[in-house]
Amino acid sequence: MLNKDSILRIALQKSGRLSEDSFGLFKECGIKFESGTGKLKTSSSNFPAEFLFLRDDDIPGYVEDGVADIGIVGENVFVESNRKADVTYRLGFSKCRLSIAVPRGVEYSGIDDFQGKSIATSYPRILGNFLKSKGVKAEIHEISGSVEIAPSIGLADGVCDIVSSGSTLLSNGLKEVEAIFRSEAILIANKKLAKEKHETLNKLLFRIRAVQTAQNYKYILLNAPNEKLNDIINMIPGMKSPTIVPLAMPGWSSIHSVLEENQFWENIEAIRAAGAEGILVIPIEKMIY
Ligand code: ATP
Ligand code: MG
Repeated sequence: MLNKDSILRIALQKSGRLSEDSFGLFKECGIKFESGTGKLKTSSSNFPAEFLFLRDDDIPGYVEDGVADIGIVGENVFVESNRKADVTYRLGFSKCRLSIAVPRGVEYSGIDDFQGKSIATSYPRILGNFLKSKGVKAEIHEISGSVEIAPSIGLADGVCDIVSSGSTLLSNGLKEVEAIFRSEAILIANKKLAKEKHETLNKLLFRIRAVQTAQNYKYILLNAPNEKLNDIINMIPGMKSPTIVPLAMPGWSSIHSVLEENQFWENIEAIRAAGAEGILVIPIEKMIY
């Protein structure tokens, strides 16, 4: 039975750099909802959740005020907003950094170069705190978009903006000189969630963990001669221990195991050298310890 009090209101970015991965996360968690129909609010058909589709800038305020119970937003936007909410999960996507950049021709020797200068940004709070921590007094020009053109039109000596690859800076004749803040998508929650909603949030977090753990692991199958089994098993220990199934060909077995992907790549040469053949690596959808 669906208890109305347990329905979690979830704020997501309507369209932008957080949307695809946010929508994808719920899909991988098996939570179905309609998106892309232009509706600003929708319900899940198989999980006690309602979704609101918003501008990312509005998400921290909605979550603080309790209009939404939880939301997914960039840490940069959350910190800049100065709104109060619990950071309940670091999601690992939409990674970027907030950096200071100057025109490419300018020689830069350190943040002290900005004493008495000006910097254009959409992040006055994060930049202000950074400059203060360095004892630099610079003027902050707050602008809401197209920050990169500020130096070329004489508005400011430098800019402070989001960078991921650096190509936008480069194409505007700028070079990155200081990374001041590293960001990723985070899941934030209202500080006073009712007990029923908290239970729904815990169910959601359980699923998110299962999906994210699975992404780092692979299911491995390989064939090996029986006399090599022990050597190979030591290299791929698995969750409890590997499964061993005899092949139709006498003297050979198939080993099935679960491995962290990095560990697989680090051990692959040794596994082959030990006599493994026909190695298959298969993605895992969900993983629960
Ligand atoms: P909205 O219309 O919702 O206000 P926006 O234009 O303010 O959207 P986006 O450009 O979609 O915001 O970026 C949303 C968030 O994605 C940023 O706040 C940041 O956390 C992250 N982000 C921004 N640029 C990149 C990038 N190039 N690569 C990865 N993540 C990024
Ligand atoms: Mg925005």
